[in-house]
Amino acid sequence: MPHPPTEEAHRLGATLQGLGANPDFGAPGFRILVFAPVGRTAELAKQALGRAGFACTVCAAMDEFCAAFREGAGAALLVEEALSSAASVRLLVDALTEQPVWSDCPVQVFVANSEKPSPPLATLARLCAGRSVLLLDRPVTPGSLISVMRAALQNRARQYALRDLLAQYDEARAEADSANRAKGEFLSVMSHELRTPLNAIGGYTELIEMGIRGPVTPEQRTDLERIRMSQKHLLGLVNEVLNYTKLETGTVEYDIADVPVREAFASAEALVMPQARAKGLELVIGETERAMAVRADADKLRQILVNLLTNAVKFTHPKGRIYLDCEREGECICFTVRDTGIGIPEDRLAAVFEPFVQVRSDLTRTQEGTGLGLAISRQLARGMGGNLVVVSAPGVGSTFTLKLPA
Ligand code: ADP
Repeated sequence: MPHPPTEEAHRLGATLQGLGANPDFGAPGFRILVFAPVGRTAELAKQALGRAGFACTVCAAMDEFCAAFREGAGAALLVEEALSSAASVRLLVDALTEQPVWSDCPVQVFVANSEKPSPPLATLARLCAGRSVLLLDRPVTPGSLISVMRAALQNRARQYALRDLLAQYDEARAEADSANRAKGEFLSVMSHELRTPLNAIGGYTELIEMGIRGPVTPEQRTDLERIRMSQKHLLGLVNEVLNYTKLETGTVEYDIADVPVREAFASAEALVMPQARAKGLELVIGETERAMAVRADADKLRQILVNLLTNAVKFTHPKGRIYLDCEREGECICFTVRDTGIGIPEDRLAAVFEPFVQVRSDLTRTQEGTGLGLAISRQLARGMGGNLVVVSAPGVGSTFTLKLPA
């Protein structure tokens, strides 16, 4: 069954239907160029079109016609005799194919027999296949000339409307890009500005703790410890925001090399094992072939694995298990970090990769975090030509799969 049309689709449909409605055919963009070098065709066509309210410019030579065409036209009218040489066909084809992407100016050519075109006409038809070039058999009555030209100008009006839409779209995109850049620069400057006083807080706390400012009571020592923990936490958050903005603004460089999977596993394990043990979790590292290697930036690969493993530790209850595995899949290496934790509801699976998203704020408030870890990890994975995805079931656990080129 087809889906019921959404409001958005209705709006788009209405916009498309309204494209080029009620154009003013007397406007300069709708002038009809006529080039008919023999007989009285040009004069008669100009009279008939003028009576119908169309603006008309008669050209005396092919290069004059092409120059006028490049300046802008609503439609064009030629006769077979204007295209009797290969040179004139080439001039016309050049002018037609130089049009911008949105433009396909309708061109009508009056011919003796459209089923048996002369060799130059056959060339024109071949080189302009897919464009609005129409061969019309003579004689053409004034009535059919006007109706053909009206249809051509209506078609042109839609092209103009499309051109205007594209310009609006380009403008909106440029504005969005510049707003995004400004946001990135703001965050980056803010993060730098925040780090300086945070480092000062850390430094002075240390001085006091060392007793340099005088004796410290046990109660004061406990308070100083809390200040230091908060300072470290805040500094961590600020650094994460800074890392994320660097990724967003594309200023991150990747040092890609063959990284042995075993080494990547060992360095991630060393960093995460203490947290897992402290929480009573078992960390199970899979066996890998000695020679297995992945094309990656070693530091960034470790950052992603540590991120995924730290999350698994955070969101798995004590006595749970966390598995780190790796296998080859065609031209790729797939790393999996699986846990037996709280899982992620299906309707939040895509959102966890968005910046600043945390599924359960009640839990994460006690668990620390910015909601940037997965956004950063996926950007890094993509930056190395791979991807990061997740499958999960609430109450059962989550599996994050990092795919990278082998
Ligand atoms: P943070 O961990 O700093 O909150 P992340 O971007 O790393 O940010 O994760 C975003 C959210 O995704 C987490 O707050 C959590 O709700 C959810 N999440 C991530 N990993 C897991 C996991 N292994 N199990 C359950 N939920 C997870």
